[in-house]
Amino acid sequence: MKTNPKTVGMYSSRDNTEAKCLFIFKSGPLPYDRHNPEAQKQLVADTFGSENGWETQRLLQAMKAAEDFYFDEICQVHMPAWSKGRVALVGDAAYGPSPLSGQGSSLALVGAYVLAGELKLAQGDYTRAFAAYEREMRAFVEKNQKIGQSAAEGMVASSSFKIILQNWMLRVPFLMNAMFQMISKMIAKAANGIELKGYGET
Ligand SMILES: Cc1cc2nc3c(=O)[nH]c(=O)nc-3n(C[C@H](O)[C@H](O)[C@H](O)COP(=O)(O)OP(=O)(O)OC[C@H]3O[C@@H](n4cnc5c(N)ncnc54)[C@H](O)[C@@H]3O)c2cc1C
Repeated sequence: MKTNPKTVGMYSSRDNTEAKCLFIFKSGPLPYDRHNPEAQKQLVADTFGSENGWETQRLLQAMKAAEDFYFDEICQVHMPAWSKGRVALVGDAAYGPSPLSGQGSSLALVGAYVLAGELKLAQGDYTRAFAAYEREMRAFVEKNQKIGQSAAEGMVASSSFKIILQNWMLRVPFLMNAMFQMISKMIAKAANGIELKGYGET
């Protein structure tokens, strides 16, 4: 059965000193004021207001008082080319993999390193450097963007069967552990999926 996909979750951060909450839902394009957090909180409250499971209502109350509230759409950037003329894009602007991938900063840093290195190797021939930058990075970026796509599909499952299966796995420690191990391996493989050149550093 198709369902209206929504997820509420919590995770720890900063060495278990902070508890963060996330509300994720699927929808068509939403007109909202990017400069008005109160209106954004209301949008989340309206979307989850009728959900009475787990800690949802308590977390919605906490959200109202939160000073570090952040609201955005989950999306990826896919550009057919990362440069034009003398301009090249790096990081999110070229290949943002979405916050759900957890790989955006790594891609941006690796991209900046490779671009700088290729510019050095090409000795000022930016056309050659930009082409090499893209050649070195494309497959790595695609692998890491896949993590974002899989995470989005997993975190807002769109069928009742998948939700039941997921909830059941999360309640069985052995299965939960196996699932996290599998996900961690997949992330580690993608995150290490590029052989960085030395670019003649001294
Ligand atoms: C909620 C959330 C959670 C995330 N979690 C993770 C995570 O766990 N792990 C991870 O690796 N990544 C995570 N990311 C993604 C990560 O933050 C980005 O992928 C990364 O910051 C991209 O770096 P960037 O340099 O490309 O862009 P940005 O960090 O966005 O830097 C772009 C800069 O350009 C500035 N700017 C924009 N327009 C102009 C202009 N016209 N003139 C001058 N300056 C301008 C901006 O102010 C900004 O400082 C998360 C992102 C979000 C939103």
